[in-house]
This record gives sequence, structure tokens and C-alpha cells, in this order.
Amino acid sequence: MNADYDVAIIGGGPVGAALALALRDSRLKVCVLEARPAGSASKDARALALSYGSRLVLSRLGVWDALREVSAIRTIHISQKQSFGRAVLKAEELNVPDLGYVLPYPVLQDALTAALQHSGVAPIYGASVTALTSDADHAAIGYRQDGVEHTLQTRIAVVADGGKLLVQQFPPKVRDYGQSALITHITCSAPRANTAFERFTPQGPLALLPFKEGYELVWTAPHQTAQDMLAWDDAKFLHELHQHFGDRVGEFLTVSRRSCFPLGLRRAPQQTPMQHVVLLGNAAQTLHPVAGQGFNMGLRDAWELSQEILDARPEELGTEKMLAAYRSDRRTDREAGIRFTDGLVRLFSNDLPLISAGRAAALTALDCLPFAKKFVAKRMMFGANG
Ligand SMILES: Cc1cc2nc3c(=O)[nH]c(=O)nc-3n(C[C@H](O)[C@H](O)[C@H](O)COP(=O)(O)OP(=O)(O)OC[C@H]3O[C@@H](n4cnc5c(N)ncnc54)[C@H](O)[C@@H]3O)c2cc1C
Repeated sequence: MNADYDVAIIGGGPVGAALALALRDSRLKVCVLEARPAGSASKDARALALSYGSRLVLSRLGVWDALREVSAIRTIHISQKQSFGRAVLKAEELNVPDLGYVLPYPVLQDALTAALQHSGVAPIYGASVTALTSDADHAAIGYRQDGVEHTLQTRIAVVADGGKLLVQQFPPKVRDYGQSALITHITCSAPRANTAFERFTPQGPLALLPFKEGYELVWTAPHQTAQDMLAWDDAKFLHELHQHFGDRVGEFLTVSRRSCFPLGLRRAPQQTPMQHVVLLGNAAQTLHPVAGQGFNMGLRDAWELSQEILDARPEELGTEKMLAAYRSDRRTDREAGIRFTDGLVRLFSNDLPLISAGRAAALTALDCLPFAKKFVAKRMMFGANG
């Protein structure tokens, strides 16, 4: 049967938009259904650490040069509170110009949205998807726009909505870390150019990501503690941050508006019983932000799915054979990324003396062994599929 679209992407967030851009020069009929109204800027407060591998993909998509507010990471300093042992990764030791980049989520989102507007892909804004069904031929999507219900049929429905639409039907496996991430921008008296800090503390990891004249802070803590931290006055906040982080960047001087995100690991079933449907980005896996892997992995999802779609013969689009090949391509990277972030959070978020000594030894070994550094850095930059 003739469907309205070859590919319909539910969610024009960074991952859905990247997939649409990767398909723009094909002969395929592609649409993006995005719940946000047209022209509305994203207000998401989080900053994203992009890997060097993501930069290469965004360049191929023609978006990298349009990103105006990006700071490079050339050194990553990893340490743990109340214990010895630390590791330093440097771009020059790994033969790459930069280890990664920091930018606000809305800057990335706006650049992707602008590129989409100039592509042949039709984004449908203010379109909130409410229903998704499928049979052997196609998927059917129901959405509401300006109070009016619409339906469309597509050979492939890509769910890139961040992970809400199919949650009831196909519950993800969830690990609740009992943590929230408090995020904000801070300035300090001795910032170290292009250096990111990842510090593990018993209450959760704390990251300082270099951005402009200061740092984007991601400070994880148990939910209630994070709520309390939101309410602290600035002086107390800066003092407590210093207690947790130490003197590496001098004195903390200012803190901007703070926001909180509850954290957990959510992984959707690898294979849903729905034909012609595929899950992408956070809809497939939502990771803890430690080591900044979530969007980077979602972008690799989007890139590999686009290649699978572009390589498929017309009659293969959305068939179980095509989708199984995609899932198989992604399995190793996905599993490795989940194990890596989950392992880091669980191993480092406690103060048991024996484990603390083991962690210190592991950090020291990472610092001293060039092949271990290369392995970890390569994983963080390019994922497990290299
Ligand atoms: C505090 C924090 C820090 C992070 N730091 C990093 C980092 O440093 N590096 C990194 O790589 N990742 C990081 N992440 C993860 C990263 O933010 C996510 O992996 C990424 O945003 C996922 O993109 P997405 O497009 O899959 O989903 P989303 O960003 O959630 O976008 C989903 C889109 O779908 C739309 N939508 C939702 N429902 C519907 C519907 N029913 N119909 C139509 N449209 C719909 C939404 O409006 C939205 O535009 C962090 C996350 C958090 C919480």
C-alpha cells in the first residue's frame, strides 16, 4: 500500500532533527512531528558535552559551523573526593585536536532546527503525537495540532520523543539512582582554559565543563539534597561547592540560575513487538549524565539508522529485516555505553574504604598506562563501534 511518508520522526529534539537532516538529500518522503510550536526557542537549561566523534557527524550534517557558542575541551581531569588517585586525559596525547566541546542544549537545538527549515524535510510544529499503531504494511500515527486530530501513515515511524509515548505499552527497564542533577553556570578566580573536571564524591559525581569565561556545573546529589541545594543562597552554594570540589580553579565567585533534573537509567526493550517502528535517542536509552554520553550515543543511533535507511531497497523500508539489521549494528555500542555510565555511577557513588582504595588504584593505573587512556578516550569520543 502507499503510505503518506517513508519516514515519520516523532520528536524534533536534537536526535530526531539529526536523523531528518541525515535523510534530507534522499528521495525519501520524510516528516518530523514536533510538539513545540513553530518558532519557539528551546528553554532547556542543560549544557551538553559533545564528543569529538559527534563533531564529525554534525559537520557531515552541515551544522557544526553554524554553532556559535562552543567551548573546546582539551584536558579532562578525573579525581575522587577524600581519596588519592587521579587521571588526566589530554588531547595532544591522543592525537586529536580536542577531546570534546561544551555548548548549551538550546544552541544545538536551534542550529539543527534552522538547518531543518532550509532542508527539503517538512517539520510539522505544534504537532503532539498521541497514538502509534502498526501492522505488517505500515505504522499509523495520530497527532493533535491546534486542537485538530490528524493521522498519517508511514513505512517507518521513528520514536525520538525522549521516551514518553510508548512507556505504558512497553515499559523500559529502570534503575533509579536516587539522584538528581543540579545544573548551573559558575565563575571562579582561576579557571583553567579548556579543562573539564569530573570529580566523584560519595553523594554522586560532579562535573565542571569549561564554557566561555566560567564553567557549566553538573552536580549530582540525592533528590532531597538537590532540592535543598536549589534553595541555598549564593554564598552558601559557592561555599559548599568549594568544600566538594577543592581549590583546583581557585575561589568560586558567582552562580547563575539553578535547575534540577531527576536521573535514572531507562532502557526500552531492544525489540518492541511493533512492526515498522524504531526507537531512537533517549526514547531507546536514557543514561546518567556522568561522562556526557546520552546525546552522543543518540547521535550515533541517528547516523547509523540513516545509513541503514539509505542503503535499503524501497521494498525493504521498515521491514523487520531492515530494523533487525539496525538493532544488531547498534547493540554493542548501546550495551557498552549503558554499562560504562551505569558502572561509573555505582562504583563511584559510595565511600566504602576498600572500594575507595580500588578506585584510587584504577585512576592511578589509567593515568600511567597510555593504552588504557587511549581505550577510555576512544570509547568516550567514538563509542564502542569506533
Ligand atoms: C542534566 C543533564 C545533562 C546532560 N548532559 C549531557 C552531556 O553532557 N552530553 C550528552 O551527550 N548528553 C547529555 N545529556 C543527555 C541529553 O540531554 C539527551 O541524551 C538528549 O537530549 C536526547 O535527545 P533526544 O532528541 O533523544 O530527546 P529530547 O532532547 O528529550 O527531545 C525530544 C523531543 O521530542 C519532542 N516530543 C516529546 N513528546 C512528543 C510528542 N508526543 N509528539 C511530538 N513531539 C514530542 C519534545 O518536544 C522534544 O523536542 C544530559 C542530560 C541531562 C538530564
